[in-house]
Amino acid sequence: MKTLWDTIVAVATPRGVGAIAVIRLSGPSALEVIERLTGCAGSEFAPSRARVCEVFATGERDVPLDQCVVTYFRGPHSYTGEDVVEISCHGGPLVVQRILEECLQAGARLAEPGEFTRRAFLNGKLDLTQAEAVAGIVGARSEAALRAAVRQYRGELSAPLRGLREQLVQLAARLELELDFSDEDVEFASREELAGRLEAALELVERALASYRSGRRVWEGVRTVIVGRPNVGKSSLLNALVGSERAIVTEIPGTTRDSIEVERIFDGILFRLVDTAGLRRARDKVEVLGIDRTWREVEKADVLLWVVDASVGKEEAVGEEAWALRRVWEEKGPDLLLVVNKVDLGRQIRLEDLGPVVEGLRSVEVSAKTGEGLRELEAVLVETAVGKEERDGGLLVTSARQFEALLRARDAMERCRAGLRAGLGAELLALDLREAIDAVGRVTGEVTTDEILEEIFGSFCIGK
Ligand code: GDP
Repeated sequence: MKTLWDTIVAVATPRGVGAIAVIRLSGPSALEVIERLTGCAGSEFAPSRARVCEVFATGERDVPLDQCVVTYFRGPHSYTGEDVVEISCHGGPLVVQRILEECLQAGARLAEPGEFTRRAFLNGKLDLTQAEAVAGIVGARSEAALRAAVRQYRGELSAPLRGLREQLVQLAARLELELDFSDEDVEFASREELAGRLEAALELVERALASYRSGRRVWEGVRTVIVGRPNVGKSSLLNALVGSERAIVTEIPGTTRDSIEVERIFDGILFRLVDTAGLRRARDKVEVLGIDRTWREVEKADVLLWVVDASVGKEEAVGEEAWALRRVWEEKGPDLLLVVNKVDLGRQIRLEDLGPVVEGLRSVEVSAKTGEGLRELEAVLVETAVGKEERDGGLLVTSARQFEALLRARDAMERCRAGLRAGLGAELLALDLREAIDAVGRVTGEVTTDEILEEIFGSFCIGK
C-alpha cells in the first residue's frame, strides 16, 4: 500500500539527453537512500548545501555510476516539507535510469504524478492555488500566462481570499454566539454592521469572479475565431496575422472546409487563431459539414473576428449569417470585432451601410494583402480580449475549479444578505455563512476532498 510516509523518487527533468538531469527524493528515508548510494554518512550532507559525490551501484565500489551534485534539504525547509535529496547527475538516459533504479533498490518507491507537490500541499508548504500555479508556471505558453502563474504562486490570489474567509468566520462566530444566548434575545452582531461587512465581502467575491474572464484567457490562451462569408479574406487574414502560409488562400469561394488553428502571441498574450469555412448557404455536403463546424467554433470562441469584404456592394457584404453572429454575441457573450478587409481595393461599403446588425461593434479596417491596419487590429484584439487591469492585477481567478467554488460562495452570501433583509434568525444566517466559508476554503484548500486533490495533482507529470 502506498502511504504518505513512503520515500518517493522521480526524475524531475525531461526524458532524453541533456547536460544534467535531476533525480528527486522525498520522505523520511531520503537521506538513508543517498547514504547507500554514495557510501557517505548522512552527517556529511549539510542541509541546503550542494556536495559533489560519486554514486555507486549496489555492491560495486570500484567504478561509480556517475559523479553527481547532491543537495540535501532537511524538512521542513524543503519543497515538500519533508527531507528531500536532489541528485544532479549527467543527463544521459542510461545514467539517469541506473541511478533511479538504485534509489528504488535502496527503498524508495516511484512517485506518482504530482506527488511531490501534493505532499507540499498536505504539509502546508503551498495552498491549492499555489499548487495550481506550479502547473501554470511549468505549462505557461506566453509571457502573460507566466506572470499570472508566478503571481498566483506568490499567493496573490489566496491572500485576499484567506482574508475574506477570516472575515466570514468572524461574522458567523458572532451570529453563533447569539444562539448560545437564544433565551435572552440578544444581538451580538448589529444587523447593520453585519450587512455592511457582508457587502464588502461580496464585492471582493464579485471582483474575483469577474476576473475569471481575463484570467482564463491569459492562462489558456484566447480562442479567436475568424468568421465571415466565403472569399472575404479570412484565410488571408489568418496568414497575415501569423506571418506565414498556414491557411489555404484561393479565389474559389468555399474552399476552407475545415477549421485551421494556429497559435500566435500578441503583446505577451497567447491567441489561438481559428480559420473557418465561410458562412453562406452551402452548395454541397462537404460544405455543409464545414459550415456546421464553423458554428461549433463560433460557440466556443472567446473572440469572434467577423470579416467583411470592403470591396463589394453592401447587399453582398453581409447576408443572413450577420444576424446569427450578432445573436451569438448578444446571448453568449464572446467579444465580436468587425474586420473590414480588402481596403486596398477602395472602400465600396461604409459601416453605416451595414445597418443595425453592426451597431455597437468595434471595427478595424485592414488589408490582409498589403498589411495595412494589421498592427491596429492586433492592438484592438489584445485590448478587447483581456482587460488591462486584470492583465496586471493580483486577484486573478484562473481555473474553472476556483471560479465554481467562488460562485457557490457568492450564492451563499447572497442568500445570507437576503435573509438579513428579511430579518431571519441568527441560525439561518450563520448556516449560509458557513456554506460560503466552506466554498472559499475550497479555493485555497482549507477544505479539500480527495476528488479536488485528484483533479489538481492527477494532471501533473511525474517528478513535479
Ligand atoms: P476566405 O474564403 O474568406 O478565406 O478568403 P481568402 O483568404 O481565400 O481570400 C479570397 C480572395 O481574396 C483571394 O484571392 C485573396 O487573395 C483575396 N484577398 C484576401 N484579402 C485581400 C485583401 O486585403 N486585399 C485584396 N486585394 N485581396 C484580398
